[in-house]
Parts: sequence; C-alpha cells; structure tokens
Amino acid sequence: MGLVILFWCHSKDLKWRILIIIQASAMSSSKPLTATLIPGDGIGPEIVESTIQIFETLGSPFAWDVQQAGVAGVEALGDPLPAQTLESIRKNHLALKGPLTTPVGGGFRSSNVRLREEFELYANVRPAKTMIPGRYEDIDIVLIRENLGGFYVAHEYLIPVGDNPKAVAVSTGMNTYEGSKRIARFAFEYALKNGRKKITVVHKANILKLLTGIFLDAARDVSKEYEGRVEMDDMIVDACAMQLVMNPWRFDMLLCTNLFGDILSDQIAGLVGGLGMAPGGNIGTNTAIFEAVHGSAPDIAGKGIANPISILLASAMMLDHVGKQDLATRLRTAIIDTLNIDQIRTGDLKGKATTKEFTDAVCKRLTN
Ligand code: NAD
Repeated sequence: MGLVILFWCHSKDLKWRILIIIQASAMSSSKPLTATLIPGDGIGPEIVESTIQIFETLGSPFAWDVQQAGVAGVEALGDPLPAQTLESIRKNHLALKGPLTTPVGGGFRSSNVRLREEFELYANVRPAKTMIPGRYEDIDIVLIRENLGGFYVAHEYLIPVGDNPKAVAVSTGMNTYEGSKRIARFAFEYALKNGRKKITVVHKANILKLLTGIFLDAARDVSKEYEGRVEMDDMIVDACAMQLVMNPWRFDMLLCTNLFGDILSDQIAGLVGGLGMAPGGNIGTNTAIFEAVHGSAPDIAGKGIANPISILLASAMMLDHVGKQDLATRLRTAIIDTLNIDQIRTGDLKGKATTKEFTDAVCKRLTN
C-alpha cells in the first residue's frame, strides 16, 4: 500500500478549495505514473477526493501532481489556466480533471476549450452504458466528438445598428477536411479496437451545407478504407435526437461535430441515469485528459451529495488508456455491485447516499 496524505484547505467560500496531496508511492510493486490532477470547481474537489480514496484502495498506478484551473485557478494563482498547470500536463501527458466553471456571456474563455486547443486533444470519447435499471435498458453507445473545430472556435463579434451597439451577433464555425478526416479515422480505429460494428455520422448538411457537409464528405472518404469491417451511415442531427429517444438501440457509435457532440452526449447520458453517469476522455496524439461530462454543479456544490461515478468512470477510461485494463474492470465491477447489489446510490439516482457513503461502499466492494 502506498502512503497518501491529504490536506484540505477550505476558505469560507466553498468554491475555493485547495487540495494538496503528497503521495509517496502509489504502488509498492511498480513505479507510479505521474499524472496531473485538477480538482476543479464546484463539486470537483468532492468527487476528486472520492476518486483518490477509491484509487488508493484499488492500488493506484498513478502519483498525482495536483494543479489548479478554472475559478480555483483564478483564486489561487490569478489565472483560470495557470502556466504551472499547463507545464505539469506538458510534462506528464496525462491528466484527470474535475469540472471547471465558465462564466456565461462575458468573463474568461472556457479553460476546458483552451486545454483541448493547447494540447490538440482532437478526439472526445463519451461512452454511455446502462449500469442500473431505468427508463431504458441495455444502452451501449459510444459518442466520438470532434473537439477542436465547429462553432467552438467561437470567432464572434457584434454589429451595431443605429443606437444599439449589440444589434446583431455573428459567430463563425470552422471545420477542415483534414481535421474531419482525422476524427473520422479515430472513430473507425476505435470501432475496430473495441469490437464496434457501426458508426452513424451526425450532421446538418441540409442547412449547414459547407460547415457540416465537409465533415460528412471526409467521413465518407475515410469509411472506404474500412469497408467490410465497420459499417457507416449518417443522420441529420434533429432526426438523430428524436431517434435517441424513440429507439436508441439502433445506435452503436455516433460521430459528431463539436457542438452537436456536446449536446447529444448529454442526451445519451440521460438514457443511462443522467450526468452523474457520464465519463469522457479528451485524446490527442501525445496527451490525454479525462473528465466527467458534467459541469461544476454549483447548485449542489459543498453539500457532499454529488455522484462521483462520472469521474470514476473517466478514471477507469484513464486506466484503460495506460494499459491497466484489469484495474479498470475491477473498478467498474465495484461500482456496478455497489449500485445494484448493495443498492447504495446518490440522490440523482433516487438514492439517499452521500458522496462519502457511496465512496466508502465502493472501497468495501474493492476489499471484499
Ligand atoms: P452541470 O453539469 O454542472 O449541472 C447540470 C445539473 O446536473 C445540475 O442540476 C447539477 O446538480 C446536476 N449534476 C451534474 N453533475 C452531477 C453529479 N456528479 N451528481 C449529481 N448531480 C449532478 O451544468 P451547468 O449547471 O449548466 O454548468 C455549471 C458550470 O459547469 C458552468 O460554468 C459550465 O460552463 C461548467 N461546465 C464545465 C464542464 C467541464 O468542466 N467539462 C462541462 C459542462 C459545464
């Protein structure tokens, strides 16, 4: 067992928490992999604390290098994306990130988007798989989202008309043929590696004929290389949104442009119990950052009731990524057993458990 010492420094404002971890050794048997750990904002520190406790019980292969970003970064170091956080990720090539608050309307630009751009994390992988009985049974969908282009480039400006300086708002989206081919190839390779059979490309090429048409064209071109191995079809985004409610079982993998992927990944999270059940990985050629799909949930922050499963599943994806599939499987099994055999669930899943009670129950499963 490794030695982990946790210090929590709480300010009166619960949003500002600094977690300092000194992890002498993550595993006695092998050299730990150093990974950057960003607790983040809102419920971030609570669900990250849960992850650390569970990883210690699991036998973590990681030594955590704790860094700040988002509002916590502004409060600790005056910057939503401090240089030392970037430096840590640049060195480690691997990070687990809690949710980061982004001001709505004005204020600083999303640190999440900046991180994806900085490390060219072009692929966002967001799986949704049924873990508890609910409105939908046996959902198993993997959404691959193009992570750098589309409307997220957010080149925006206002045009004044008459007395109104904000009369017209303009936003420019951008997709490149090469960028679209790169994400399509990532999706097809993911399908081959993970035994997936079919990719549905989601677009709006009837209206955004160029912006999403180029994405569809590139996917069609790439699909020729995978003929006979992985099937591909395509669907207009509005029809896809409806089909995900009416008959989600028809989908195996979805390949989406940036904004559509953002929206539909919340929708598929809703099919499996909500945002508390939705992990994500941001993957580039030499760096990967794993996170929960959800945000900082300010409405429940500091109450100790957040569901930590999304970030735990994201950390399981991180274990897969570094070749520790055995640990990832043990973690997923412990979560499923805690939910279904022990019937211990947080409030978002209609249970009564606190974050701490759920965490302790998973640890108990891991030591059984
Ligand atoms: P949100 O995902 O934070 O919350 C939406 C709803 O889901 C809330 O009612 C919340 O309580 C609930 N919820 C979310 N995660 C939960 C969990 N683990 N357990 C239980 N309930 C949970 O979305 P929002 O309120 O629109 O956004 C809040 C902030 O988070 C914004 O600043 C936004 O920009 C940011 N955000 C960050 C990320 C990220 O860091 N990747 C993603 C989305 C939103």
